[in-house]
Amino acid sequence: MSVNPRKILVTGGAGYIGSQTVRLLLAQGYDVAVVDDLSKGHRHNVPAGKLYELNLCNGSALSELMRQMRFDAVIHFAAFIAVGESMREPARYFGNNVVGSLSLLKAMAETGPRHIVFSSTAAVYGEPPESPIREDFPIRPVNPYGESKVMVETMLRWFDEIHHITSVCLRYFNASGADPEGRLGEEHEPETHLIPLVLRAVMTGEPITIFGQDYETPDGTCIRDYIHVDDLAQAHILALEYLIAGGESDQFNVGTGTGHTVMEVVRAVEEVTGKKVPYVIGPRRAGDSPALVAASNKLRTALGWKPQYADLRTIVDHAWKFARRGRR
Ligand code: UDP
Repeated sequence: MSVNPRKILVTGGAGYIGSQTVRLLLAQGYDVAVVDDLSKGHRHNVPAGKLYELNLCNGSALSELMRQMRFDAVIHFAAFIAVGESMREPARYFGNNVVGSLSLLKAMAETGPRHIVFSSTAAVYGEPPESPIREDFPIRPVNPYGESKVMVETMLRWFDEIHHITSVCLRYFNASGADPEGRLGEEHEPETHLIPLVLRAVMTGEPITIFGQDYETPDGTCIRDYIHVDDLAQAHILALEYLIAGGESDQFNVGTGTGHTVMEVVRAVEEVTGKKVPYVIGPRRAGDSPALVAASNKLRTALGWKPQYADLRTIVDHAWKFARRGRR
C-alpha cells in the first residue's frame, strides 16, 4: 500500500469476525482503529494500541475520535448476535444494534467518513420459501435480531440518499472456523454455534444435542452454509475497496453456496479430530429453517470474491486448532 495508508474505523473489532478482519486489514497495509465496549469482545483479540474502549451510543466521544482520526471508511460489526436472546429481550437488541448504529451514522454524517461496510445477516430473509437464497428474496425477519439488522439496512439507504454515505451490507450465512494458525476464533459466552459445540463435546465427552433429525433433508438434519471467517473477513476488505473506488451502495450474501447437514459437520469433526463425537438427538429448535444456503454469485461477480477455505474439513481443522489452544 502507499505511503499514506487508508484509515479504517472498525466497530466491534474485538469480536469474532471483527478481529479477523482487523488482522487482515493490518496485514494488507491499512491503518486501523477499533472501537469496542468489550461487552462481548475480548481485549486480547486486538493488537496493542489499536483499541478505543467505547460504546457506540456515546455519540460525542465517537464524533471526537472521528474528528481526530479522519477515517476514510468504517466497518461496522458491533452488535449483539444471539437470536434466542433477542426473542426474550428485544429492547436490548434494538437498543444496542439499532440505536448504536444510528449513533455511528450520525457521527459519520457530522465528521466525514463517507463509506461503511455493514455486518448484516441471512436472518433478514427469515424463513425463505426456497434455497439457495438470493439477495432479491423478500426481507421478512422472524426475530428481533434479524429485524434490528433490517432496520440498520434501511437507515443506510436513507443516509446514502441524504448524506451520500455509501454502504455495502454483507448478509452472513454461518460464520465458522478460525484463522489458519488457530490464534483467533469463536469465544462466545454462552456458545450456541454448532462447530464449537461439537468440538467441545469431543473435548469434554459431554454429548451435544442435535436439534431434530426429522427434517426433509438427506439425513434428516438441518442444512447450513458454513463460511470460513477468513473468507468472510476478506469479503469486508473487498467491499471496502469497492466503496472507496466509488462503488454504489449494495447488499451481498456471504456464503459458499454449498450446504452441509448437522450430521456432515459431526462426521467432519470426527475425521479431523480422529475421535468419536458424543451426541444425542433432541427435538427441533424453535425457529430453525430446514435449509439455509446462499446464492453467492453476486458477491463473486461484483467484487471478485472467491472463498479460499470452502471445504468443511478445513473450516473444522482451523476451529479445532483454536479450540485446542484453550481459553485464554
Ligand atoms: N445445532 C444443533 N445443536 C446445537 C447447535 C446447533 O443441532 O447445539 C444445529 C442448528 O439446529 C442448526 C445448525 O446446527 O441447524 C447451525 O446452528 P447454529 O446455531 O450454529 O447457527 P444458525 O444456523 O442457527 O445461525
